[in-house]
Amino acid sequence: MDNRACKAILGGMEHDADILIVGGGLNGPALGLALAQGGLRVTVIDARPAPARAETGFDGRAYALAIASKRLLSAIGVWPRLAAEVQPILQIKASDGRAGQGPAPFFLTFDAAELEEGPMGFMVEDRRLYAAFLAAMAETPGLALISGESVVAQEIDAQGATVRLASGRVLRGRVLVGCDGRSSGTAERAGIRRQGWGYGQTALVTAVQHEHDHQGIAHQFFMPSGPLAILPLPGGHHASIVWSETDAVAAEIQALDDAGYLAALRPRFGDFLGEITLAGARFTYPLSLTLADAFVKPRLALVGDAAHGVHPIAGQGLNLGFRDVGALAEVLILAARRGEDVGAVDVLERYERWRRFDSTTLALGMDSVNRLFSNDNPILRAGRDLGLGLVNALPGLRRRFMRQAAGLQGEVPRLLTGRAI
Ligand SMILES: Cc1cc2nc3c(=O)[nH]c(=O)nc-3n(C[C@H](O)[C@H](O)[C@H](O)COP(=O)(O)OP(=O)(O)OC[C@H]3O[C@@H](n4cnc5c(N)ncnc54)[C@H](O)[C@@H]3O)c2cc1C
Repeated sequence: MDNRACKAILGGMEHDADILIVGGGLNGPALGLALAQGGLRVTVIDARPAPARAETGFDGRAYALAIASKRLLSAIGVWPRLAAEVQPILQIKASDGRAGQGPAPFFLTFDAAELEEGPMGFMVEDRRLYAAFLAAMAETPGLALISGESVVAQEIDAQGATVRLASGRVLRGRVLVGCDGRSSGTAERAGIRRQGWGYGQTALVTAVQHEHDHQGIAHQFFMPSGPLAILPLPGGHHASIVWSETDAVAAEIQALDDAGYLAALRPRFGDFLGEITLAGARFTYPLSLTLADAFVKPRLALVGDAAHGVHPIAGQGLNLGFRDVGALAEVLILAARRGEDVGAVDVLERYERWRRFDSTTLALGMDSVNRLFSNDNPILRAGRDLGLGLVNALPGLRRRFMRQAAGLQGEVPRLLTGRAI
């Protein structure tokens, strides 16, 4: 970034940008684009070198994005760069399961045909999404990306926020936004504590190639040790696997060679897609719930996993983050247009009021679903099978669940309806 080019004289103080975003994972770039397109000057700082992530080969890591997230990505010009590389989710089938026994008789099926908005979600590979963000950022005036640089210190004063990078470089903005993930240093340095707990579960993530076409169907098997999600990828014959096991079992499985890993996966996966082979790298993610005690402070806001890290059981983490992005962008852009100080605490509190209740409710909801399904108690098993069957038999209730998961319920930020701010 040309430092001089980005100097803004705001209220008598020199700022490098209106908004400094720490973290260029996925929520940071989305927020940066939304704010810059709304006329604010933004600098995104990310510790990882950008090209490394964009140029990763196929590794199977992918996200299930809700309709509302697709609309946000369309509104900020990212979706057109991705549209040819996504897999629409046409059906979701959820069932109780046990390794070697196949799914239980009670299925819950969500069908895209029941939503007038179209497919209820889309599978998008991490590398494709990131590359699309990178390309969009490079073309957006008023947005600068500094990658391969870590923020190591921050200071807030009455007029702005100052950060120091590991290289010694100092940057100043009117607002500092932490998009720096679950162990957000921005939150920690601001003295914002976190609540949460570990699940004693680790997600094994990989990709498989399978014989039969998946036909756009996503499967969720609720195993006693944790859920197994089989998520359709473009082309019909690849799926992304998010497979939760207790920490000890996951460590044992991860330590196996590919043949052993596949042998452990097969009885859980079943044979409904024919023969399967491993097709991606093998990742592990220890699972925990983490909620920041506050989402804002004067001149500071937290977004995405920095504010709330949820269980991936329903693939809602990034979707929740994009709702934060839409809400914070709307609050800041409208405040700037009205001539308000975007870093004033009463402005930032509008964002917190909008997002904190929704995120906390969803985080705790995912927590309960995981507790209900990740066990082998015969009474709970019978009850939840009955519950799945019951919801399946009630189209009205089923549609409510679908609309909720698609991000169409509640007070939806403008960008998540596909409209510009
Ligand atoms: C197994 C698994 C499956 C998932 N599946 C789904 C799914 O299907 N759908 C869905 O919606 N969500 C899903 N999620 C959740 C989703 O991955 C996260 O919500 C999302 O990646 C969070 O993005 P973020 O940008 O907030 O944080 P991150 O992706 O963690 O990015 C944080 C960034 O901050 C940078 N950073 C950190 N500290 C500093 C610093 N000091 N200076 C500069 N930069 C810094 C890091 O380099 C990183 O790039 C899943 C999660 C897991 C674990």
